Amino acid sequence: MFELKTPTGRRMPLVWRWSSSPYKVYLGAAHGVCGILLVLLQCPQPTWDAYEEVLLETVDCLIDFQLASGNWPSSVGSPSDDLVQWCHGAPGMVLLLSLLVGRHEPEFALSAARRETYLRALSAGARCVWERGLLIKGPPNLCHGTAGSAYALLHASIATDDCELLAQGMSIAMHAANWRELERGGQLVRGDSPSSLMCGVAGAACLWADLLCVVCGQRENFVGFPASLDIAQS
Ligand SMILES: [Zn+2]
Repeated sequence: MFELKTPTGRRMPLVWRWSSSPYKVYLGAAHGVCGILLVLLQCPQPTWDAYEEVLLETVDCLIDFQLASGNWPSSVGSPSDDLVQWCHGAPGMVLLLSLLVGRHEPEFALSAARRETYLRALSAGARCVWERGLLIKGPPNLCHGTAGSAYALLHASIATDDCELLAQGMSIAMHAANWRELERGGQLVRGDSPSSLMCGVAGAACLWADLLCVVCGQRENFVGFPASLDIAQS
């Protein structure tokens, strides 16, 4: 049986291995543990109620992998701290932790100690996104672009009622809105699917629309990070 221990020696209760490489375990939101937990925890409560503790223990284990920089490695055993993007790294984890500590129905049954741990990890992850979230992969996209960074900060600000995080998310979103000029100036490298939802400007349009809802006081129209934090509403 495949057993995985975290850097603190804790046994990870739920592990999903990458299909083409039996010993590769991705951690992030696109290919890894974080993304699977995000989907499971947004299913209707009766589907995860009985498994809540094991799901939260898996989140605890994910936090064990957080680096001193506030980021996460893309996979177990990777020494790299290079990628700060939704698919690999802190932005995806910030979404997961925002879901867990945010006020919504149903709320997750977090002990005070666990909530404190999640808030600390969320704060360090959000700081990392703010410091390193201006990405050069264009157009500004959700998967590995600035739109993903801004969305993560927006969700973190809502979950924690932190205006500074909102201001940080807004400034990255506004930087992203300048993407045509950034492309012309060579500060953005144009990707393969420039109009798509996850890798193109369509995802950025969702970010800008949600940001407008927040700043105009229309939170009832807020949808959330597509395919990541909008699942409960789909
Ligand atoms: Zn990506």
